[in-house]
Amino acid sequence: MARIVQKFGGTSVADIERIRNVALKVKAEVDAGNEVAVVVSAMGGVTDRLVGYVREISPLYDAREYDAVVSSGELVTSGLLALALQAEGIEARSWQGWQIPIHTDDVHGKARITGIDSSDIEARMAAGQVAVVPGFQGIAPSNRITTLGRGGSDTSAVALAAALNADRCDIYTDVDGVYTADPRIVPRARKLARITYEEMLEMASQGAKVLQTRSVELAMKERVHLQVRSSFDDAPGTLLVDEGEIVENVLVSGITYNRDEAKVTLTGLGDRPGVAAAVFGPLADANINVDMIVQGASEDAERADMTFTVSRADLGKAKEVLEGIRKDVTFREIVADPNVVKVSVIGVGMRSHAGVAQQMFSTLAEKGINIHVISTSEIKVSVLISEDYAELALRALHTAYGLDSDD
Ligand code: ADP
Ligand code: ASP
Ligand code: MG
Repeated sequence: MARIVQKFGGTSVADIERIRNVALKVKAEVDAGNEVAVVVSAMGGVTDRLVGYVREISPLYDAREYDAVVSSGELVTSGLLALALQAEGIEARSWQGWQIPIHTDDVHGKARITGIDSSDIEARMAAGQVAVVPGFQGIAPSNRITTLGRGGSDTSAVALAAALNADRCDIYTDVDGVYTADPRIVPRARKLARITYEEMLEMASQGAKVLQTRSVELAMKERVHLQVRSSFDDAPGTLLVDEGEIVENVLVSGITYNRDEAKVTLTGLGDRPGVAAAVFGPLADANINVDMIVQGASEDAERADMTFTVSRADLGKAKEVLEGIRKDVTFREIVADPNVVKVSVIGVGMRSHAGVAQQMFSTLAEKGINIHVISTSEIKVSVLISEDYAELALRALHTAYGLDSDD
């Protein structure tokens, strides 16, 4: 007998028929003699709709009310799944986040789970009852409902698996595993049988939304056995593993894209010691994350152009903050460009091999794609390019690194 957490995403619970299908997947684990807790997302499209309502009624919304509204989608699916399980003759009940409780901090809209008191659930599971838990939500010390950021049900599932000391956490979604690139953009992407936690963490944080970044971080830290698989067929999925468990020696495991960035250039920036601190300090104070940075010379030796990226949602606020630093820093203008995409190649093999970045640059050059900004880490190279070339770049790189599937 094993203890298992199964998580089903929005597409997997998008209508009643699919919820019935999910119930059968849960039943299969129960029939195999396992103790099961299930985490569900809202029906596909529901969270977007709820977010839309909030923005429509109040552009500068109160984040606590945003959470009260957008957390509701998961309540519906958890109740419906409990009913579908009961219809299959399986004892089941739904638990709202506060009833468990799933404790979080009070950062509404992107709260972090601080602890789960799983004792009641464990007792019921031991008695043969399936626990159906809404993902994406928790409760703050102030007693108000919180949500964990978009895609947060993955993190709910991993956190619950850690709290329950589960043997496995299976993430069921609308693709049958983690691919070398988003299969919707790169038709020749290949499914990976295994991927290291570290590569998955990098892929998630660079835009592969198949798992929320925080869920991978948590799985790594809490040593949760995580698997990504399809809710629509029984194909074997992708297992997250430690580096030592990967035998193949590949340089690049995956390629990702992220459309959530915007480019900002300060032209003719007075170049003096401390200027970077004077620019980035106020941005940090305004809670604006800066990702890629490059400083280039301009025509005038005393001046430089500084280019960096912020999240698209922060662009307006970033421009405001930068206008506000004119008293301390001289620059000509702020040029903002939201039509960019960050493309990254990721692989632990890069640690021991040179030339990965060079291959990326030459492949993009051959396609006539201009690189605006470059950044690297130990297992990743990222470039910022014009959004128009996103698909071309992804496919060309996928081929160049030998990742294309044969069929
Ligand atoms: P869910 O609603 O089940 O949480 P998501 O839409 O959040 O599903 O995540 C699954 C989607 O992630 C897939 O449909 C796919 O388009 C996308 N995706 C992006 N990159 C990858 C990748 N490398 N491998 C698999 N899927 C990916
Ligand atoms: N329903 C939430 C979202 O759409 C959480 C999730 O699906 O993971 O972001
Ligand atoms: Mg998701």
